[in-house]
Amino acid sequence: MERYKYIYGPVLSRRLGRSLGVDIIPFKTCSYDCVYCLLGRTKTHTSKLAEYVPCDAVLEELERKLSEDKPDAISFAGSGEPTLNSALGNIIAGIKKMTDVPVVVFTNSSLLWKPEVRQNLALADIISPSMDAVVPQTLQKVNRPCEGLNCELFYQGIKSFCHEYRGRIWLEILLAAGMNDSDADVNALVGAARGLENLECIQLNTVVRPPAEKHVGAVSRERLEAIRRQLPGKVEIIASFFGDKEGGHGKKSVSAGEIADLVERHPSTLEGIAEGLDVGVDIIRPIVEKLVTDNVLAANECEGKTFYVVTNPS
Ligand code: SF4
Repeated sequence: MERYKYIYGPVLSRRLGRSLGVDIIPFKTCSYDCVYCLLGRTKTHTSKLAEYVPCDAVLEELERKLSEDKPDAISFAGSGEPTLNSALGNIIAGIKKMTDVPVVVFTNSSLLWKPEVRQNLALADIISPSMDAVVPQTLQKVNRPCEGLNCELFYQGIKSFCHEYRGRIWLEILLAAGMNDSDADVNALVGAARGLENLECIQLNTVVRPPAEKHVGAVSRERLEAIRRQLPGKVEIIASFFGDKEGGHGKKSVSAGEIADLVERHPSTLEGIAEGLDVGVDIIRPIVEKLVTDNVLAANECEGKTFYVVTNPS
C-alpha cells in the first residue's frame, strides 16, 4: 500500500475546497494536550522548536503530488502543532516557488509570542489561529499547555500576530460543554476577540468527534447560536460540517493508502471519509473493511457512530 509520509488528501473542505494536508510534526507532538483532541492524548508535550521532519523531504513529496494534481489549498494541520517545526517558514517559501495554490496554517496559537514563529508564518496566505480560553484556569483545564506556556503569553502572542500579519486571519474558537462555555468564559472570549486586529472571520466550533477525554462533550447548537451573536464581526458556526453528508460523488476510485493517510490525521466515520475524499460511501466501504481486517484501521464507537482510527500512527 503506497502511502505518503507528510501529506494527505486532498480533503474536501467547505471554505477551502480540495485541500491538500501537510503534516510536519510526529504523531501527537504538541504544546497543548487539549481535552477535546480527536487524536487522543499528547505523547510529546513540548514548546521546543525543532526541524521535527526535514524540510527537503516534505517539499519532495509535495512536488510529486502537485505534479499529479492541483488542489485548491495546501493546509498545514494534522498530527500535532505545525508551528513547532522550525523549518515551517522554509517549507512555505519552498511551496511558494512551486505553485500559486494558497497556503493555510492551522495553529493552536500557543507559540505566537515567539518572533521566529510569527516570522515562519509570514508567507502563508491564511492563518487559522485557535483561541479556546482567555481565563487562565480555563485555558489550563481545556488546553493543558506544556510547562512554560500560559494564558498571558498566549494572548500577547496572538495579539502581536494579528497586528503584524498581512494575510487573512480566520480565528477559531472551540467550545466544549461545561469546560469553556460558561458566561464568564464566553464574556472573556468576546472581549479578547474584540482586542484582535484584522480578523476576517471567527469560526465557532464544538466537539464533534471522539475527544481525548471521554467526559468532554458538544455545546448545543442553540448555545452556539447565542454565543455567535455576542462575538464581533463575521462569525460562523463550523461544527459538524465534515461527515454530515452521505459521502461525496466527485471521484470514482480511491486507494487504501489515501484512506489511511486521511484517517491518521482525521479519525472519521465512513461518511466522513467518503465526504473528505469526495467519493461514494459504497466505494470506500469494502476498502475500509479490508483495512480493519488487516489491522491498519480500528473501529471505535462514539455516541452511536462508528469512527475509524489508524492502529499504529507514524
Ligand atoms: S487539538 Fe490540536 S492543539 Fe490541541 S492537543 Fe490536539 S493537536 Fe494539539
